[in-house]
Amino acid sequence: MAILGRDTKKCPRCEAKCLISQLRCPECGLIFSRMEKATNKAGWQRLKNKEKDAVLYVKQVPSDLKKWKLILFTVLLGLFGGGYFYVKRWERGIFYLLGFILLTVCVVLNQYLVNVWNGALIQLLGFFVGIYGAMWIIDIVLVCTGKFKIPVSLPDKELE
Ligand SMILES: [Zn+2]
Repeated sequence: MAILGRDTKKCPRCEAKCLISQLRCPECGLIFSRMEKATNKAGWQRLKNKEKDAVLYVKQVPSDLKKWKLILFTVLLGLFGGGYFYVKRWERGIFYLLGFILLTVCVVLNQYLVNVWNGALIQLLGFFVGIYGAMWIIDIVLVCTGKFKIPVSLPDKELE
């Protein structure tokens, strides 16, 4: 008989399947109870200090963030990278923001160039809006289904 889903969990670090009763991941050695103390704030500190190895990207919303806020930011401000900024994935957030600015510039330019380029710009624009819209919808689905990755780490005082 297959192991029932509710009896197993996935290790947040290596994604290995573990039993709920296991305290430590048999694959990578992560002690699960320590993950409860991991925060997004500490993850951001470590990213700033270039300690990338100490940062985990987990799907579980850490204690210093709220899932409803993540959903709200992604739904309302997702096109500007809102959800990414909320979990401090700045690079990805800035990518969205720059994309949005670029789109706005294209919309403005299109007013002047529509005759010159015979509508080629508006087609290009439609293409990019489509891509951005799709990425935004994917983000909303990821956030709502708990699959959005959030960088976390343990605060210094929790490290041995
Ligand atoms: Zn593991």
